[in-house]
Amino acid sequence: PCTDFDMAYFHSYAHLGIHEEMIKDRVRTETYREAIMRHQSFIAGKVVVDVGCGTGILAIFCAQAGAKRVYAVDASDIALQANEVVKANNLSDVIVVLHGRVEDVEINEQVDVIISEWMGYMLLYESMLGSVITARDRWLKPGGLILPSNATLYMAPVTHCDRYSGSIDFWRNVYGIDMSAMLSLAKQCAFEEPSVETITGENILTWPHVEALHQYLLVGNAGYEYVIKEKKRNMDKVKYIDCYSVTIGELETVTTRFKFNSMMRAPLHGFAFWFDVEFNGPAMPQSNYPSSTSFTDNHLVNGSQRKKRINPNEALVLSTAPEDPPTHWQQTLIYFYDPIELEQDQVIEGLVTLTQSKENARFMNIHLEYTSGGRSHIKESVMR
Ligand code: SAH
Repeated sequence: PCTDFDMAYFHSYAHLGIHEEMIKDRVRTETYREAIMRHQSFIAGKVVVDVGCGTGILAIFCAQAGAKRVYAVDASDIALQANEVVKANNLSDVIVVLHGRVEDVEINEQVDVIISEWMGYMLLYESMLGSVITARDRWLKPGGLILPSNATLYMAPVTHCDRYSGSIDFWRNVYGIDMSAMLSLAKQCAFEEPSVETITGENILTWPHVEALHQYLLVGNAGYEYVIKEKKRNMDKVKYIDCYSVTIGELETVTTRFKFNSMMRAPLHGFAFWFDVEFNGPAMPQSNYPSSTSFTDNHLVNGSQRKKRINPNEALVLSTAPEDPPTHWQQTLIYFYDPIELEQDQVIEGLVTLTQSKENARFMNIHLEYTSGGRSHIKESVMR
């Protein structure tokens, strides 16, 4: 059923500003366009559903790639404008705009392709992926294509002295006045909720994964080192989602244990979360693709240089990692009220659980438990 929360959600997408921000995010929009072009031979002559078409941009890219028909579905009133855009571009014979929820609209045929830009902050915020799953289960033909094909949520420990002192230590001396009385309120106001902001690779307290590749290359046949480091890196995966097989039930609660070794002595201020998505086809099983991290050279140690990917056969990736070019998703930070002073190689381990809020299924509860130096802590927050 369409709840009041859904109504408010769809209403927010009737404003053009939110679409402008997404479209101006060139990393996002150009990666989608490239994905469509890479799969052009599959899309040409086929039937596509664009789940949550917004302004219609992805539907139009699919029409440009030669799709026979594109159902562009959006429950927000932005669909009315999308329909005008389609007409103005003489695409009304290809693109059918449906103003309604994918859960409710009728499409009287099976489709070959589902495309959707469903990712929220921290990947799962807004929980729109459920609607993509609904569309898949209602209409996708066996062997059909889903773009993006898979998604991964990552986390890492973060040090960020400027951010902490700017919001907290600031109150210790305000124009010469001691306002330390504000400290506990300042911590609560600044860090109770998750914060969407941009950090860099330098804020991350674990080794970037390219380190593994570099070490492997440098020490020649020391494959042992390489394997160890790859394992280490795998631990920062909070959730891997295969869009071809994921179920709605699997998304209600996502929980994972983590364990990090700090690569240096530094205050730990919290954890960062980010995600990437890939655009693989259904014909090529996942195992035939090199993993997105094995052959890339774009995660550089200091984050200041960015090289092109070195394997041309590699899966196309839309990344929101701190080392990669920034996107409107930025990263999501969960700060502690008080930093933890870490020694080099000190272990931080714990558990993170993401659940859809009972209050509003579009909100997300984040439960964090973490232990370091023999002390355990819990941090609960809600992303609204
Ligand atoms: N595809 C566009 C817009 C992406 S934003 C682009 O890439 O620029 C996501 C859109 O999905 C919003 O416009 C929102 O209204 C729509 N949406 C979310 N859930 C939906 C659902 N269940 N049914 C129909 N539209 C939905």
